[in-house]
Amino acid sequence: MEVYKFGGASVQSAEGVKNLSCIVGKAEKPLVVVVSAMGKTTNAMEEVLRYFMEGEKEQAANRFSVVKEYHIRIMEGLGLGQERVASVFASVERILAEETPSCNGYDYWYDRIVSFGEILSTTIVNAYLNVQGIKSRFIDMRRSFITDNRHREANVDYELSRERLLKEIGTEPEGVYLLQGFIGGTKEGESTTLGREGSDYTAAAVANILDCKAVTIWKDVPGILNADPRIFGNTVLIPRLTYVDAVELAYSGAQIIHPKTIKPLQNKDIPLYVRPFGTPEAAGSVIKGNEGYTPHGIPVLILKRDQILISIRPKDFSFVLEESLAHIFALMHAYRQKINLIQSSAIRITLSVDNSRYFSGLLEELQKNYKVKYNDNLELLTIRGYNSEVVERESAGHTVYVRQQTRRSYKLLRESTAER
Ligand code: ASP
Ligand code: MG
Repeated sequence: MEVYKFGGASVQSAEGVKNLSCIVGKAEKPLVVVVSAMGKTTNAMEEVLRYFMEGEKEQAANRFSVVKEYHIRIMEGLGLGQERVASVFASVERILAEETPSCNGYDYWYDRIVSFGEILSTTIVNAYLNVQGIKSRFIDMRRSFITDNRHREANVDYELSRERLLKEIGTEPEGVYLLQGFIGGTKEGESTTLGREGSDYTAAAVANILDCKAVTIWKDVPGILNADPRIFGNTVLIPRLTYVDAVELAYSGAQIIHPKTIKPLQNKDIPLYVRPFGTPEAAGSVIKGNEGYTPHGIPVLILKRDQILISIRPKDFSFVLEESLAHIFALMHAYRQKINLIQSSAIRITLSVDNSRYFSGLLEELQKNYKVKYNDNLELLTIRGYNSEVVERESAGHTVYVRQQTRRSYKLLRESTAER
């Protein structure tokens, strides 16, 4: 069995869903298909949530009706009747009208409400596949993909998820199993999500759990490019990457794959194909193999924006690495900081983290024991397989705060160039 994953862009219109159906129709069965929310639905649901959390029930309902309209239009384009999603719409509307966010926190409600984006997309895709004569079975990942209760960033329970998924799939799998990416549920039945853009991770985790032969991510790009074409010129396709290269690139901010995607695949030696859904006959790129294989000799550039550089110094002038490391990192973990770069001296540790809503809480906590300074609005450029020419080009004219270099990678933390 293989896994196909389709992101939001590939199902953003009726045309997209039809194209998915063509690709899936031609594939060998049984097949697991993982689908994200359609187009920008997750962003829209985040807005619905914001109004809901502020107690603006009417605004929340209005915003949700835009989401409804969008899905109804796609269903019309597919010739599907609205009754298929009526109960999903009703579930969201019931929550928005009847529940109050006073109990439970933002993250809990996020998962409960935003997860409906994927429920909508998969309900529609499942219905369309069946109308097309492709036998497809809908699996509700809120009950079949079990996670802990770290809302908005839930960790998958592989054992329990295996049990639940196998129960759904049975001993003689056939046809298509249609799963939502990004969402799961706790043992107690509460909805969870895996972090933005988490559907790739779902596909990889499911492939690991079910011992699948391969995962294919169908994307609106030709494959894995050596840089984001929206930011850099002259990009080229990289036909093959190792797991090590891929995980380093994903962690550095390559948006092509979610950073958590690689481990479940590497652990079972499952190849990951990235292929263009617009031209399904094209080869795209593949990630596989563990040897340090960089056949292309092309520097790969990854830019991670919205970085904060924090500089932390113990107030009592003690050696930071010897006395304070465990404490600082425990706080980093508790405040969900995504650390991208670490540098230290005798009494100071400097870290670059993603800007997030948890940052101010961390700052307050750190300031109890440390002198803390920070610079925000920076960007971290990682160049894998660098040469002096790219390093010079990317440094010239920039204020660079930190440089770090290993044999394979060069990192530059510099002032944001977002306007270019
Ligand atoms: N729909 C979710 C998001 O937009 C998950 C995903 O697309 O992978 O973040
Ligand atoms: Mg998405």
